[in-house]
Amino acid sequence: MSTTGETVFDVIVIGAGPTGENVAERAVKGGLTAAIVESNLVGGECSYAACIPSKALLRSGAALDAARRVDGAKQAICGGVKASAVFARRTYFTDNWNDSGQVEWLKNAKVTLIRGRGRLAGERVVEVDGTRLTARHAVAICTGTDPLIPDIPGLREAAPWTNREATRTDRVPARVAVLGGGPVGCELAQAFRCLGAEEITLVDRGGHLLERFELFVGQMLADKFRELGIAVQTSAKVRRVERKSGRGPVRIWFETPDAAERSIQADEILVATGRVPNTWDIGLETVGLKPGEWVTVDDTCCVQSVAGGWLYAAGDVNHRALLTHMGKYQARVCGDAIAARAKGELKEPPHPWTRFTATADHCAVPQVVFTDPEAAAVGLSETQAREAGIRYRAVEFDLSHISGAKLLADGYQGHAKMIVDEDRQVVIGATLIGQDVAELIHAFTVAIAGEVPLSRLWHAVPSFPTMSEIWLRLLESYGL
Ligand SMILES: Cc1cc2nc3c(=O)[nH]c(=O)nc-3n(C[C@H](O)[C@H](O)[C@H](O)COP(=O)(O)OP(=O)(O)OC[C@H]3O[C@@H](n4cnc5c(N)ncnc54)[C@H](O)[C@@H]3O)c2cc1C
Repeated sequence: MSTTGETVFDVIVIGAGPTGENVAERAVKGGLTAAIVESNLVGGECSYAACIPSKALLRSGAALDAARRVDGAKQAICGGVKASAVFARRTYFTDNWNDSGQVEWLKNAKVTLIRGRGRLAGERVVEVDGTRLTARHAVAICTGTDPLIPDIPGLREAAPWTNREATRTDRVPARVAVLGGGPVGCELAQAFRCLGAEEITLVDRGGHLLERFELFVGQMLADKFRELGIAVQTSAKVRRVERKSGRGPVRIWFETPDAAERSIQADEILVATGRVPNTWDIGLETVGLKPGEWVTVDDTCCVQSVAGGWLYAAGDVNHRALLTHMGKYQARVCGDAIAARAKGELKEPPHPWTRFTATADHCAVPQVVFTDPEAAAVGLSETQAREAGIRYRAVEFDLSHISGAKLLADGYQGHAKMIVDEDRQVVIGATLIGQDVAELIHAFTVAIAGEVPLSRLWHAVPSFPTMSEIWLRLLESYGL
């Protein structure tokens, strides 16, 4: 129960990750009362086991490498990353897994926090450890995801690390086997290498790393990983895992494309093979939905398959874009739509690109992978544009030819690709890889979401000598 004993709220949010917090805050800003139910730490996966600690683990190595690439600065470097200091900095950024700061934030936002496990118990009803709460207007499911542990014989018994253990550890295992070559696997493989792990092997069943990105991204990253001493084994099917009593060395057997069976030994095995929705035990069956499935929503984040328009789902759990910034974007949309509907101000389905629709989910989702080199993409890849039947043109440019990049790092290596919709003459996708490209991606996001015509982008002059000159070069390559 809430500390005030209240059991009726305008809005009840289940899950206080970044998404849930923002749904509740927006609903309150819209004039409603809101309660948020959290079974673990307020702040969710992002704050304590994902974005924040993983980036903190990567940052020190990236800063050191950046200095190593600048003559005159590199001579000042006389050692490597100090793992204990990196772990301490990570712990600072996770507030030592104490959520009092975020609890205070909820209090200031006038959102009532209810600690406990929330379950739907029919229309507009949420049960928290035996207490029944009722929502006047809406319930929002923001329960996020859990790590997916694939069904590989011996894997569960081997007590593998997931992102949760890997981002919380204070220990650098000498040998780490990473299963999964997506963003999480790549970032954590690199983090542990920088922290001093002697042997890292990244095993992926796909043909190349970061498969959802343009092909050149995975190829450049794999080259860099090999240079750093991270072994990359792609197109590998893991057959079994063996670890006696779940402790000590772990052996992983996998099959390579030539059908050969190989095995590696490691001190820890880290599973980064995807996510499953956190919907097994949240009472979905009481409202006619299937437990364990992603919750499908419309662009206002409303669950259309449940009658009455009172149930919403935002963030990772709706499977539209599993990223913190997109979850928070959906949260703003969802909270505003709930408030507007409660006031009778939103009777018709809203148009795209209004504050009540998560339109960007379809065409302008930016993502950064904080490896070295960084990878960043927004909008459609060339494959996606082709599959969507769009008449497009792709232009590419070698980032190492940009003056700003040359000055940033000696021997800079990087690449950029932009996809243009030929009929509408607007940018619909961009992908970059190279040091410090993360900060470049937002300009592409603005161009895509704003549907800025190429003829006008030509007048957005990038400063010299910055990396942003990639814009000029791409537009010139297109023929402007
Ligand atoms: C290693 C890693 C690194 C990542 N790095 C980035 C990054 O750099 N940038 C980025 O944008 N994204 C990143 N992500 C993705 C990001 O973490 C997620 O997109 C984000 O956390 C989703 O937020 P959410 O609020 O939807 O869910 P979550 O953060 O998962 O929060 C869900 C909350 O709901 C609670 N909950 C669940 N069930 C119940 C229940 N029944 N009752 C009460 N509470 C419940 C949970 O305890 C949790 O607090 C990363 C993910 C991983 C794994």
